[in-house]
Amino acid sequence: MGFESLLGNDQVKENLRNTLSQDRASHFYLISGAPGSGRHTLARLLCAALQCQGEDKPCMACQQCRKVLSGTHPDVITVEDSQHVTVPIKLVRQAQADAYVKPNEGKRKIYVFPQELGLPGQNALLKILEEPPAYGGFLLLTDNPEKLLPTLRSRCVHLRLQALKPLQLRQALTSAFPKADPQAMEAAISRSGGYLGQAQAMLRAKSQRCPETEAFAAALAAPNPMALLALLAPMEKWKRERLSDCLQDFLRLIQEAMVFRAGLPVLDPIAQTVAAARNPGELMAMAQTLKKAIAYTQGNVSPAAVCGWLGWALRS
Ligand SMILES: [Zn+2]
Repeated sequence: MGFESLLGNDQVKENLRNTLSQDRASHFYLISGAPGSGRHTLARLLCAALQCQGEDKPCMACQQCRKVLSGTHPDVITVEDSQHVTVPIKLVRQAQADAYVKPNEGKRKIYVFPQELGLPGQNALLKILEEPPAYGGFLLLTDNPEKLLPTLRSRCVHLRLQALKPLQLRQALTSAFPKADPQAMEAAISRSGGYLGQAQAMLRAKSQRCPETEAFAAALAAPNPMALLALLAPMEKWKRERLSDCLQDFLRLIQEAMVFRAGLPVLDPIAQTVAAARNPGELMAMAQTLKKAIAYTQGNVSPAAVCGWLGWALRS
């Protein structure tokens, strides 16, 4: 039953149900798919299924399932370091040594690699895969399986996540975002490539954007430098983090306007007004300016100085 919480991908789910019910689970899985395709969801469900003590795995109800799903199972270990692009080799070696220490309480000791592995990391992992402990489990997540060594790929059961149909996306998004307006919903579906996570991220960004975004759009569409300065003046006193979040919403608006100019559906009618008032060169320059302002805000420049500079740099 648990695999149902991953939408679509019926073949992948059916194969997993079959092998798990016959106790033929593999030690190594490769989960591939585009960003937003459900790789992390599937990894969590598969870890639960491998530890599950219930009948229909993952039952989502036994103690083992609950611990995995809440991220507190001591024998499900995520190997990653957000400070680096690829998993540092040191962490792979630690996992390699730790894998031969028996599980605390689970049937399996599972290592999840959600981050890309560099060549040294892949070679280190290959050593474990050559002689895995009987209780070991290794899940590799990637958006591009071609980046992995063929010898590594060939040892894994490959689970390929596919795009969803518009109808499936519409149903899932309607229940998650009941207040989303139809234009935003259809634009998110059409631009997501069929990947729920991408469509959700677009709708979430729109519903949570800072209230100043509409006034910003109006000032750009007018175009009215005084309105822009009036909008930015109170923002000079904001905390760094709030200013950075809001500037990112401004940048998303400009990017939406560029998307509209490229002929794609947009989530937001106010992006259309900006696109109508500004040419592509101006939009591109504004996006660059906002990116710089965001970098300044996240660096050492004070919010007052950033807002002052922005009012000057965006003047028209
Ligand atoms: Zn269970």
